[in-house]
Amino acid sequence: MSVTYFDYAATTPVSPQAMEAVMEALQHFGNPSSRYPLGREAAQGVKTHRETVARALGCTPQEVYFTSCGTEGNNWAIRRGVELNRRKGKHIITTAIEHAAVLETCRDLERQGYEVTYLKPDREGRINPQDLAAALRPDTALVSMMLVNNEVGSVLPVAQCVKLVKAYDKTILFHCDAVQGFLKVPYTMASLGADFVSVSGHKIGAPKGIGALLVKKGVRLTPYLTGGGQENGMRSGTEPTAQIAGFAAACQATMAQTDRLPRTAAIKAYTLQKLHEALPQLEVITQGDAPHICAVTLPGYKSEVVVRVLGDAGICISSGSACHKGKPSHVFAALGLPKPWLDGALRLSFSPASTQEEADRLVAALKEAAATLFTTLS
Ligand code: PLP
Repeated sequence: MSVTYFDYAATTPVSPQAMEAVMEALQHFGNPSSRYPLGREAAQGVKTHRETVARALGCTPQEVYFTSCGTEGNNWAIRRGVELNRRKGKHIITTAIEHAAVLETCRDLERQGYEVTYLKPDREGRINPQDLAAALRPDTALVSMMLVNNEVGSVLPVAQCVKLVKAYDKTILFHCDAVQGFLKVPYTMASLGADFVSVSGHKIGAPKGIGALLVKKGVRLTPYLTGGGQENGMRSGTEPTAQIAGFAAACQATMAQTDRLPRTAAIKAYTLQKLHEALPQLEVITQGDAPHICAVTLPGYKSEVVVRVLGDAGICISSGSACHKGKPSHVFAALGLPKPWLDGALRLSFSPASTQEEADRLVAALKEAAATLFTTLS
């Protein structure tokens, strides 16, 4: 069955350039730590790819630490960040709409005696910097704020918040989960100003199993994995040379698509317009600030059922973050939506490769689902 894909925030297809780079790297199978030519060749590959990833993120190669995924980067930065600042206190600030990789890490730290303040979003999923200013305390050790929300596409004012936090106390560490913002909204390590930034390869056309944590020069983060001393002693373990090659190639291929952001925004606008025309009962929860994500609802319908029915027809959308596995989304709940809206909430996410034909197929399938499925409102 051919697949019509509107779930690019969950994951993306591996780009042909990344696939080619992976296959090439797999053939040069040396261990980068080995001292003979096969190993040195692999080490040179990792060095070159780190430079490419650093260029995509606007930082130096020395600030890039390869990880297995965005979840690992988030865990590393938050857990080791609070440890680094343990003398400051045990207060953490984050937002109520972070990904589970941040929220569950914070909950784990709460069980270990930390106190966490969860900033509430407005109806569009945005965070007010003044709420952060009011939450800062002398014992605040770390702030963790995402750049782009993965369910509603809101862009959070990270750069402004970093300035505000550092003006209050420059020793408070700032972590940004930029997994959904990477190459989707313009930013660099310098423009954000955060101490730690996490990104993930599989959201930009790289294979799964590779990500990066950027650690600002001068911040003395402690190792996450101890062992053979790879990643400058910070994250031991033989480097996944093929995934790293795929990650760098995906960064390059994405950056080469200079019109990707307006193209993505245009296909999202087209889809929303067509949905609006075809389905009068459909409501837009938020159009999303980022070009690739929006959230809509069919009030009174069960979004899991809609997602399953569309999936059976070969159309992939999401009832929220792919990590929720059927549980109601904490993000949609945090927006204060009425229950029928929460029940029917759907996330649509796009790529520059999404077409109008695909959007038309999605609209027709949703229209049919709305006409045939049971709604609690009728
Ligand atoms: N943070 C955000 C905002 C995400 O959207 C995701 C994945 O959906 C993650 C973190 C986790 O990234 P990974 O799947 O690479 O662990």
